[in-house]
Amino acid sequence: MRLSCEVIRDLLPLYYDKVCSKESSLLIEEHLAECTQCVEELEKLKMSLEKPTISDEKIKVVENISAKWKRDKRASFLKGSMLVSALAAIICFITYNVIGAKILPDGTLVEPFALIPIGYLFVFVFIISLICNFVFLKKHKINTK
Ligand SMILES: [Zn+2]
Repeated sequence: MRLSCEVIRDLLPLYYDKVCSKESSLLIEEHLAECTQCVEELEKLKMSLEKPTISDEKIKVVENISAKWKRDKRASFLKGSMLVSALAAIICFITYNVIGAKILPDGTLVEPFALIPIGYLFVFVFIISLICNFVFLKKHKINTK
């Protein structure tokens, strides 16, 4: 008994899900042995049904986004620490200039609130974060190339 391709194609989903009768399966297999077009149709069916809900591509996109987000977070942290330390250093030096310092007759510098060492500390932090930022951005550029 030879069935038309149309009939076979109607039965293919049932055949694929193995819910059709044994007799139908045999008929379909018989047809598939001779008809490459219906084999292709079955392949298409398999492809569409076996496609996972989240494709590998989508997972990759999400991974890329989260990686980028992590990088951005780190970059903004570095930029933030750079900015804050620069600002703090500036504030320290301005405050120092406003308050002023006394130099005692014996040559020792007396300044309130230890603004100079703190100011230099912030300058140091600023330089460190500047270097980190520079290195990070360089790496980042290489990664995205
Ligand atoms: Zn066919």
